[in-house]
Amino acid sequence: MLFAAAIASLTIAFPSAGQSLPYVEKAYMIGAVPRGVTNLTVQAKEVEIYRTGAWATTVDVVEGLNTVEIRCGEIVTNHVFRVGRKPVAATDDPDAPKPPEKVWEKLEYCADEPVPHPGGKNPSDILIFIDPGHGGSDTGALSPHALCEKDANLLQAKALMKVLTERGYCVSMTREDDRSLVLHDRPREAVARKADAFVSIHHNAPGAGQDPWKARHTAVYYWNDLGKGLSDAVVARLAAALDGEVPSKGSLHANFAVTRNPEIPSILVEVDFMTHPEGEEAIFDHTRRAWLARAMADGIEDWISKEK
Ligand SMILES: [Zn+2]
Repeated sequence: MLFAAAIASLTIAFPSAGQSLPYVEKAYMIGAVPRGVTNLTVQAKEVEIYRTGAWATTVDVVEGLNTVEIRCGEIVTNHVFRVGRKPVAATDDPDAPKPPEKVWEKLEYCADEPVPHPGGKNPSDILIFIDPGHGGSDTGALSPHALCEKDANLLQAKALMKVLTERGYCVSMTREDDRSLVLHDRPREAVARKADAFVSIHHNAPGAGQDPWKARHTAVYYWNDLGKGLSDAVVARLAAALDGEVPSKGSLHANFAVTRNPEIPSILVEVDFMTHPEGEEAIFDHTRRAWLARAMADGIEDWISKEK
């Protein structure tokens, strides 16, 4: 139903008209065609149309203004966007001063004492915070049919909340509808209520110069050892659930603001790539969303029972 509603005309989801990309030699483009349209050319190159009507390709670009011709059936569109200037090459002089290394500070309102591991507690005494990434004016990434990441994240987060609630856990969400939240404030309530875990849900997109057909994996990110145990457990279950469909990059370190928490085990899950036509189709599958939620809940429970 969602697809039927979304397909009314040619969609160009990324880059949007007038968007400014960083410097790249090739840019990815994604969009969708009306059902029944079988011929699409972008920069005079034939582009494969996925069964949902989604398409994804890369185009050659130059610095400054770019006009890309898209032919879709009878429709011809000249799509205009910008590409930034090439950065000046770094000097080869070994004595040249180096830029200081970025120090990634913890969230300022977090204490340094970790909450006790919840092993041995009853599920009803364990508080899991779920954070559906982005929201409001911050749409996050876009899929070929211009589904916003903020909405995909909320759907998956609600599915996870349902499973954990059914298993008896106490669950709170940073948002339950479409609203803007200040990034650094997202874990604030979880910290105030001494939550046992903080799980941020996202869907991924490639860099502007990457091929969207080649970018599809799942991964879970942590910032410190406190988050790593949870990250390892969740990614193991997600990887097993997605085996044969989506490769797993495993448990990875990253400096995401919402995970820089010395007090509460915190992770950020990149469930899938929503820019990939198959990844987008997967997001609309509510059965799959439920089993991914069960896999994540299984991972959280493995972490609760394993670690002391
Ligand atoms: Zn995101």
